[in-house]
Amino acid sequence: MNIVLINPPNCGRSIPEEEFGITSLKMIFRGEPLALEMLAGNLHGHEVRIVDLKAEPDGLAKLLAEGTGPDIVGFTAVTCEANTVIRLAGQIKQGFGGKGPIVVVGGHHASCDPGYFNREDIDYVVVGLGKLTFRMLVDGLAQGREPADIPGIVRVRPGGPFIPAARKYTTADLVDHLPPRYDLVETHRDKYVMSGVGGKVGFVATAFGCTHCCSFCSIPAMTGGRYLSHSVEAIIRDIGMLGDIPLIRFVDANTFGDPATARLLAERILELGIRKKIVADVRADTVVADPALMRLWQQA
Ligand code: SF4
Repeated sequence: MNIVLINPPNCGRSIPEEEFGITSLKMIFRGEPLALEMLAGNLHGHEVRIVDLKAEPDGLAKLLAEGTGPDIVGFTAVTCEANTVIRLAGQIKQGFGGKGPIVVVGGHHASCDPGYFNREDIDYVVVGLGKLTFRMLVDGLAQGREPADIPGIVRVRPGGPFIPAARKYTTADLVDHLPPRYDLVETHRDKYVMSGVGGKVGFVATAFGCTHCCSFCSIPAMTGGRYLSHSVEAIIRDIGMLGDIPLIRFVDANTFGDPATARLLAERILELGIRKKIVADVRADTVVADPALMRLWQQA
């Protein structure tokens, strides 16, 4: 299958931008579409591209100008990007004529409110972690059958029933042994920056979900409330794949949710002599409960 994964453009609707007109934020911090790179990592045997509209604003126009559409277009979206993705899905369907490519939407908004995408121009919604289930969907479509009963995949039926089945996420959903396709965004690498912290940045996921379940937060919906860690060796592998990029951003919501794994990871970084700046999120109560772990990470 010919697959294009699309990262939607900066929507310009963050609080600093809307409330205070601070548009420079999008220049200070622009990260790579790691979620799409991870999906692509499990799509071996298929032809995959990533179009990052945050780094390449005319990427969609270029794609449409190719004339022949891909078989599948996959979007990711956080909540403030949901309406943009619906609009872009319409452009994809109309732009390629006929039925157009199969359009699939996943990401945070799809996981928190999947019914929002039960609309014309979208064919499937991926709820929660998608690295494994999107692959299953693609394989089913490649075999020319309507995939049924893939946990976390919902067929869109505008006006009809749309009831995602509850499912249990496990470490199998991380497909830990297959790394992200960092190479698919290599041409944009210089544009992925955290200017205030250290310039060029590479993203690495160490875990998904959270140990807590705050009612206002989108994170628990990605894993059904579970906290799932990547293996230490997979994390080290991914840091290594980013080459000489000096700054690594752990994009997990809670990097220290499993203190034992966090300790092992810091020890391994020190043992291997990896010298990078690392940015990660930590809960205040973790800092208070385990200051020795924080001291270890300060060394790492
Ligand atoms: S990531 Fe933070 S806000 Fe979200 S559930 Fe975990 S502790 Fe709560």
